[in-house]
Amino acid sequence: MSTLWYYASEDRQMGPVPETELDKLVSTGVIFPYTLVWHEGMAEWQTYTSVRTVPGLVGMCSQCEEVELQSEMVRFGEKWVCVNCKDNYTQRLREGTLGGKMVYAGFWIRAGALLIDGVILLIVQLVIQAAYAGADALRTFNGYVLASQMVVLKLLQLAAQAAYHSYFVYQLGGTPGKLALGCRVVTADGAKLTWKRSIARYFASLISVSTLGIGYLIAAFDDQKRTLHDRICDTRVIVKSGRFV
Ligand SMILES: [Zn+2]
Repeated sequence: MSTLWYYASEDRQMGPVPETELDKLVSTGVIFPYTLVWHEGMAEWQTYTSVRTVPGLVGMCSQCEEVELQSEMVRFGEKWVCVNCKDNYTQRLREGTLGGKMVYAGFWIRAGALLIDGVILLIVQLVIQAAYAGADALRTFNGYVLASQMVVLKLLQLAAQAAYHSYFVYQLGGTPGKLALGCRVVTADGAKLTWKRSIARYFASLISVSTLGIGYLIAAFDDQKRTLHDRICDTRVIVKSGRFV
């Protein structure tokens, strides 16, 4: 016998309807992707898209965040995973390295990583400044010109800093300071960050800096050692032997 479904419409429970009828109600606009549905045996009501695959409907891969047709993806519980990420995801499922079992990098090891990155970036900034001055800038007594040149220099240095953090985190899983101390930046699942999230995480870290370091300090009191920017971007910093794939 086919499953009988119930669905919510204007806060009322409708149904039961057979599965084929349920899918038809989507095309007629009675059921939307986020309409709650339920059938006997389900622990709780869930959104239509989380339990049924609709031709033509898209979803976001929980690993690489690419938007794909749901019919082209595989669903693991609540999560959609695209074909490109599937093998890696199932491998990590088998190894039990998804979620919960990660070893989070502690406050001091992260402070150490920040210090190493700080020194490297200081050298980078000085090189940029020297190159900029070499290009005949910063050699004027005209206050207005000098001030605008200083602004340009600061922007160049900020861009270099943003590129340093986003590039290394995206490409290698961590900045040189973090890698040197065996740490990686990952998602809550333990997956590699997308480039969008890497960039977002850098800019979110500026918020942590602007809180006079409190954004960093909270990592010492968090069970998953998250800084403010980790919370904003839903990232974690783990110890490398802590199973980054
Ligand atoms: Zn993917």
